[in-house]
Amino acid sequence: MSFRMEAVQESGTVKVADKVKELKSRGIDVISFSIGEPDFPTPAHIVEAGIEALRSGFTKYTPSAGIPELRQAIAEKLRSENRIDADPSEVIVTPTKHAIFMSIMALVDRGEEVILADPSWVSYEPMVRIADAVPVPVRADEETGFRLTPEQIVEKITNRTRMILLNYPNNPTGSVAGRDEIKAICEIAADRNILILSDEIYEHIIYDAKNYSPASFPDMKERVITVNGFSKTYSMTGWRLGYLHAPKNLLDGIQKVQTHSITCATSFAQKAGVAALKGPWEPVQKMVSEFRKRRDLTVGKLKGMGGIEIVEPRGAFYAFPKYDFDMSSEDMAAYLLDEAHVAVTPGSSFGKFGENHFRISYATSTENLERGLGAMKEALSKL
Ligand code: GLU
Repeated sequence: MSFRMEAVQESGTVKVADKVKELKSRGIDVISFSIGEPDFPTPAHIVEAGIEALRSGFTKYTPSAGIPELRQAIAEKLRSENRIDADPSEVIVTPTKHAIFMSIMALVDRGEEVILADPSWVSYEPMVRIADAVPVPVRADEETGFRLTPEQIVEKITNRTRMILLNYPNNPTGSVAGRDEIKAICEIAADRNILILSDEIYEHIIYDAKNYSPASFPDMKERVITVNGFSKTYSMTGWRLGYLHAPKNLLDGIQKVQTHSITCATSFAQKAGVAALKGPWEPVQKMVSEFRKRRDLTVGKLKGMGGIEIVEPRGAFYAFPKYDFDMSSEDMAAYLLDEAHVAVTPGSSFGKFGENHFRISYATSTENLERGLGAMKEALSKL
């Protein structure tokens, strides 16, 4: 293994999800609260568009940055929903995770620093390391409402800071930042000539709150990379389809990585993406209202467990409870799997300040939630 990869942990979310699949294949009844994957089928009109594309022979390479109609539809979406002054030529279609990876590879130099929240999604920090750059994790736990505050960011900025990574609604905590906070972070970035990478993959899975895109603030378009995708909003995880928006001066390097890595996103998935953006919107609304009910159920049950503290998530489909037992989060996840047959992701997978927490993905049926949370309560009461 290269030194580069030796410095990197395997993805905590993918590892637990693979373990669940393996246990299930051996006939063991495990309730999975692990990977963030909606349990709903991809809406029928989107599937039909994919099938139609396959049947019509749309199975070859596409233009590297994506098919024109999808780039156009994405630019329109960014303009109308996110108030970003987007042009189709500024959009690259690519799996969302790859969009983040490419942006970091293309824009951050060896030894440069990337400020990110701790806890935050499992792959940001490894991606920064793979680029031979330096992650600068900032404590963003219960004390700051699981948000990266402008004050904390200012404290961490050095002359090597190249990028600030934001993710709202947040994985793993469900936090959402307000307009003023995003605006203040944008001003800091603009004053010091720093880029912002804004991962907005959960933008529509949001409850009583609003998503503010940094690229929509005055003069910010030139320094913000906005990343989004179809996996969560449209329950399309397996299609591997997402996109990024960036101004031309940032886009060229990213586009080079695309041509040297995956060439283009999957052809027929792109046609399905056009159908997703066209609508109808009702299937998404139904999923989101179901997630809200599940959030309420999950939070309610967690509040009833001894030794558990929970901040109510305002977006995404994760809860990130803190526990008051003398046990590492790896051990806690192993204990819950053995004792309750419930799979969760250990908090430490999301950073040092995620320790003593675990992540529950509640993107699963009410029945699973009732059963799994019940078994969890019983297991915790034995500690
Ligand atoms: N982003 C999802 C999660 O956090 C999917 C798995 C992954 O890419 O990490 O569970």
